[in-house]
Amino acid sequence: MKSLLIKLSGELLSLPQENRSSSNVDFTKNLPIRSITQQIKTLSKKYFIGIVIGGGNFFRGNQHGKALGITGSARHHVGMLATMMNGVLLKDLLSQEEVNSETLSAIECPKIALQITEKNIKQAKEDKKVIIFVAGTGKPFFTTDTAAIMRAHQIGSTMVFKATK
Ligand code: UDP
Repeated sequence: MKSLLIKLSGELLSLPQENRSSSNVDFTKNLPIRSITQQIKTLSKKYFIGIVIGGGNFFRGNQHGKALGITGSARHHVGMLATMMNGVLLKDLLSQEEVNSETLSAIECPKIALQITEKNIKQAKEDKKVIIFVAGTGKPFFTTDTAAIMRAHQIGSTMVFKATK
């Protein structure tokens, strides 16, 4: 089975402002992320898929927190934590499409993810699970685009597709 790496920008998990207050509307129904998770479902039958999820909908280290004088390292760590929150959301959205996934994190957080190791990648492949990679590279001052290239190498994908706003 060929491997495929997909980078999803955090913005794809933003909710339209006008619908946020409405609790009884399925505001995610017509959002691009729905179509994307459905396409991932189709692709997962043919490809071993790794997804790198961004965090820009919550926090970007080179944009947010500067006004408060927060240092670069702290800002970028918050950005990486944002990708972990998105990973939790994405796992749920995929399971709504009956896509089994495993979350692997560059920052240890055993409650929500396993570590990124060759063994865990191999296991996910054997279990026919989509991998959701969170926490970017695990290092501040990078972006999840860099992580996407790294993870592509790790899962043996020669292809990287990026979905953004
Ligand atoms: N980040 C980081 N190291 C990484 C990946 C991400 O420090 O390896 C931080 C960085 O501050 C970044 C934020 O996490 O701005 C969110 O990631 P990104 O901006 O790539 O998210 P996207 O724009 O794809 O939603």
